[in-house]
Amino acid sequence: MDRSVLSAEELSAALLALEDQVVTHIEDCYTAAVELERLAAPLGDEGLLARAQLCAAGMRLRAGDVATATRQIYAIHEWAAQHGDRRLQARTHNACAHAHRLAGDSAKRLEHALSAVELLDDTATPFMQVLHRLGLAEALALNGAMEAARPRFSQAERLGRELQQWRQVTVVLNNWAYIEFTTGELERAEEIANRLLEHAGARGLTLSPAVLDTIGAIQIANGLYAQAEQTLRLCIERWEAGENENADDMAEYQLTLARALRGMGELDRAQAALNSSGALCTERGMPELMVRVHLEQAELYAAGGDHAAAFAEHKASFAARESLRRKERQAQAQTRQVMFETAEARQEAERFREQARHDPLTGLRNRRYVDEELPVLIAADPDLVVAIADVDHFKRINDTLSHDTGDQVLVRVARMLEAGLAAIAPAGFVARIGGEEFLLVLPATPVPSATKYLDEIRCAIGEYGWQDITGALPVTVSIGVAGVSESVPPSQAGALSAADRNLYAAKNAGRNRVVAQTPREFRTRAHRDRDLA
Ligand code: GH3
Ligand code: MG
Ligand code: MG
Repeated sequence: MDRSVLSAEELSAALLALEDQVVTHIEDCYTAAVELERLAAPLGDEGLLARAQLCAAGMRLRAGDVATATRQIYAIHEWAAQHGDRRLQARTHNACAHAHRLAGDSAKRLEHALSAVELLDDTATPFMQVLHRLGLAEALALNGAMEAARPRFSQAERLGRELQQWRQVTVVLNNWAYIEFTTGELERAEEIANRLLEHAGARGLTLSPAVLDTIGAIQIANGLYAQAEQTLRLCIERWEAGENENADDMAEYQLTLARALRGMGELDRAQAALNSSGALCTERGMPELMVRVHLEQAELYAAGGDHAAAFAEHKASFAARESLRRKERQAQAQTRQVMFETAEARQEAERFREQARHDPLTGLRNRRYVDEELPVLIAADPDLVVAIADVDHFKRINDTLSHDTGDQVLVRVARMLEAGLAAIAPAGFVARIGGEEFLLVLPATPVPSATKYLDEIRCAIGEYGWQDITGALPVTVSIGVAGVSESVPPSQAGALSAADRNLYAAKNAGRNRVVAQTPREFRTRAHRDRDLA
């Protein structure tokens, strides 16, 4: 397919293929994901872009760029939560769990793994159904809850078979067998590994390097060293041929090979394999595996009769474990920092959003707020009343005195409208919708009582001691009132234009007054307008 330009549908399909894939060649997948991310940008579809970004970040994580990937995953996680994109949210939780696994924070990992399963619904793909349950099983196992983990592994295996996710079944069985093995459950591990071999044979699936490593480790535990060496040779061959799902796995395979060779008494070759494992650990920064390399080195020295060196190596492994703990704590702090920054950014955005909904001069709500909130209020409340108050001859105040004086008048009028409204309709609000125009919203108030209250506010403004600000110039307001149920159907535009017409009538009738159409006249006119439309 020519991938220089993709339609949204094509991109979505290409993404899905990558999202729902057992990764076997990380370099190819990484390249493909980055390419799709690039192609998504110009399409202008935020949801699609977020998916492409998550896909690329997930591959980056596997490729070993944990810090960058974690930051990106958290940003997408926020986006998905804010936009209620449940499927993407489930995926980002799964990716967060992966990131925390690499950072060594097993509690956080479990939290995310749990959410990744909780968010599965019928929008989730079959692949996710299996993957997220496997993730939860692993997180439980690594938190020492093997009893709770087993039914989830089993469920993931069953689902994988039901949904015909054959490659995933292999992954489930492999990871399950490996975890049983590392917790000392050799028999269980063997039983699961046999099921895995049977499944792979029946489906004609080649065994991945990860599977071969598990099988080799079990063979070593059973004293089958020569067989284990063969298994590990094949494992390493396949990895070198490009079949790798995580960039760091080779160090692990060399370590297993070293243990097989030690068992065979091939100490020099064992040392060579161990050296290459240790070098990879140092090069790629894998402290956890380094601890096991030191332990194997101690065993190797002991096997060669050098007990002093073995003791020194044990000490080194202890020091490495300590340094690992420190690094894990740092990694956890870093990951928390990322989460914190994201939460901070969200609060910051919320603050800007609030600012954008206020008028800086008077501190009242502004037109944007009205446009966001009023339709919701109108839909919920048939007895809502709107009123527009406009300062009379305001231009005269500006022109005779000053613009600054005009501003002071606006601020004072705003405060008086606010205080007046708070007394009669505490659930309502006042907004500044124009230079010297204010909107008053009165929920659950019949038009006649609203008119009476608004007239009291009008009087209070006219009678206020304005001399301090305007000297001899009076300050009065005209107000037009309308009930939303009077327009058919009720709407913001209908209510505001009715209030505006009444304001105009108040100005024409000599200003400093409140005008509300009687419901009857108004209804007649609304109907006529509709008939004409
Ligand atoms: P009317 O009684 O018919 O409403 O007369 P008016 O003079 O109040 O109405 P008009 O709409 O002609 O004038 C409104 C003036 O308000 C014009 C504009 O310069 C002024 N104005 C708009 N925004 C501001 C502001 O933020 N501060 C000040 N000081 N003046 C403003
Ligand atoms: Mg005006
Ligand atoms: Mg005016």
